[in-house]
Amino acid sequence: LCFVRGDHEVNETKVQNTVGAVELEMAEAELLAKAGTVGGYMGPVGLDPEKVIIVCDATVMNMHNVCCGANHEGFHYINANPGRDFTPTYVADIRLMAEGDPCPHCGAPIAKARGIEAGQVFKLHTKYSAAMKCTYLDENGKEQPMVMGCYGIGVGRTMAACVEQSHDADGMIWPVAIAPYEVLVVPVNVKDEASFAKAEEIYNELHKVGVEVVIDDRKERPGVKFKDADLIGYPLRVVVGPKTLQTGELEVKVRKTGEVSMLPLDSDYIAAIKEMLQKL
Ligand SMILES: [Zn+2]
Repeated sequence: LCFVRGDHEVNETKVQNTVGAVELEMAEAELLAKAGTVGGYMGPVGLDPEKVIIVCDATVMNMHNVCCGANHEGFHYINANPGRDFTPTYVADIRLMAEGDPCPHCGAPIAKARGIEAGQVFKLHTKYSAAMKCTYLDENGKEQPMVMGCYGIGVGRTMAACVEQSHDADGMIWPVAIAPYEVLVVPVNVKDEASFAKAEEIYNELHKVGVEVVIDDRKERPGVKFKDADLIGYPLRVVVGPKTLQTGELEVKVRKTGEVSMLPLDSDYIAAIKEMLQKL
């Protein structure tokens, strides 16, 4: 049974670490009865330490003349005092940090901000290694169960976090390192043979030099393709159409900045595109 001040909340991880538990779960009424208490009226006074582990937050030990549950339905104690009226099995820091608490390093008040759990670490102790007889020999040649941990990175969560950090009103803006494709080639009009052939040629050239490239060869209007390109968030968009083919150029747009540049078709535009990607 864990006790904190009425305005505090229990941090389950801290409780786990204090008592060395692998997992915690809420006790049902039956288990509470066995421990000598009842939901809604739990208190540290009069509990049997043989039947239940009593964990008090350190702040509880500084309280005087407090009100707490009497472990009987409908009853509370007043003027309970730690030391005199109850003695916990463990006294530890088991409460959740709250806004305004002093920083343990510099004492300044702590501010809270929203975060995303992108990965996690669990200490599994010897629960599974003992069960599966996963052992090692210690310095005395004695078999010992290995202490296990498990570590994970959430790929989906990481991507979601990335999009949350990098987007605008038109859609996602992928960083080059994790973009599904680095470059999107858009033939403006797939029915125009010359410019479509040029677009395919650029696609193949980029592919050959190891650029992750995709071509939008759908029979859609340019506006639709451009909207989708922004929405999906390819770092670079290369546009080839009858007009730019005539002027001997291709248009490259940086998704992040919206910056558009024209590259001459008779230059080494593949090298130029690779250089732009490196700078992103
Ligand atoms: Zn600090």
